[in-house]
Amino acid sequence: MSTDRYDRLAYRRTGDSGLRLPAFSLGLWQKFGTDYAYDNQRAIVLHAFDLGITHFDNADRYGPPHRAAQKFFGEVLRRDLAAHRDELILSTKAGNPIGRSPYQSGGSRKSLLASLDHSLRDLGTDYVDVFYHHRADPETPLEETVGALVSAVQQGKALYVGVSNYDTALAHRAAELLRQAGVPLLVHQPRYSIFDRTPETGGLLDQAAADGFGLVVYSPLAQGLLTDKYLAGIPAGARALTSAFLTPDAIDDAYRQRAQALNKIASDRGQSLAQLALQWVLRRPEVTSAILGASSPEQLDHNVRALDFPPLTADELALIDGI
Ligand code: NDP
Repeated sequence: MSTDRYDRLAYRRTGDSGLRLPAFSLGLWQKFGTDYAYDNQRAIVLHAFDLGITHFDNADRYGPPHRAAQKFFGEVLRRDLAAHRDELILSTKAGNPIGRSPYQSGGSRKSLLASLDHSLRDLGTDYVDVFYHHRADPETPLEETVGALVSAVQQGKALYVGVSNYDTALAHRAAELLRQAGVPLLVHQPRYSIFDRTPETGGLLDQAAADGFGLVVYSPLAQGLLTDKYLAGIPAGARALTSAFLTPDAIDDAYRQRAQALNKIASDRGQSLAQLALQWVLRRPEVTSAILGASSPEQLDHNVRALDFPPLTADELALIDGI
């Protein structure tokens, strides 16, 4: 294992908190779980840590099947990373459906705390660093959801709390309630990429700065669409062929035209489209970390080099906006 892992990546302060997160995190949503080769998954996780990626983003739902990604991570933690637990930021989430029981989805106190206990067992750890409510639940009072997050911290099962996929107004209300309870909202996890600018247009970036929470953004490469992999068709094994969340119909002529134009801007800068796309989300100081998905250690090597290039100029940003 690497001895210079902390010399490679930038660590950015998460909102107004004292916690610094790596500019890149690793997410275990896709291609982790029992359907994929254990050795490759393990190699990705260990390589990520060697690169200085200390933050691993998980959820009860991740697999396939549900819970499998956390069970896998628990095994790697036990076998390879136990001595490094203090150096790891482990995140989990609850509240997206994982089963048919009324207590396996939503934002109730029962669902959230039962899921957290189950995740701790799967991960084989006493606490997670960040516990998230995965998505808003209009049928549960926000006070109840926030109360469950506060309890997780008070019970020593989580160090910090977050919300994901909340709209701006709800995130602000959650931040207020959490502040009153003495457990400040650490992070919000929205989707954000050149192809999905909702956090900008919906005011979430500004709200994060005002409320003092960080943003840990997901799908910064639009699941691979913001890389060069689909420019000449769909390669074997690509996510567009293996996932229900990215299907081949996304790779149409309009997509290819936009991706080619972005690829040209990237190559004029001497970088790849993936590196451009990652630099783009991290240009905003409100964004603490971009969560990468990966199907090989090499993708991580390539992607973390995104911050080795000069900042995007105003002209380049305008060109990207135009596309
Ligand atoms: P990305 O947009 O980074 O997509 C990652 C995928 O892109 C990889 O799995 C790989 O797919 C492809 N890829 C990555 N690098 C390269 C490269 N250099 N060249 C070519 N292809 C590349 O992120 P994800 O969509 O995977 O999301 C990241 C994480 O965010 C998740 O794991 C999860 O932790 C979190 N998330 C949270 C959600 C929430 O609701 N809170 C929802 C979704 C994600 P391939 O398999 O084709 O190689």
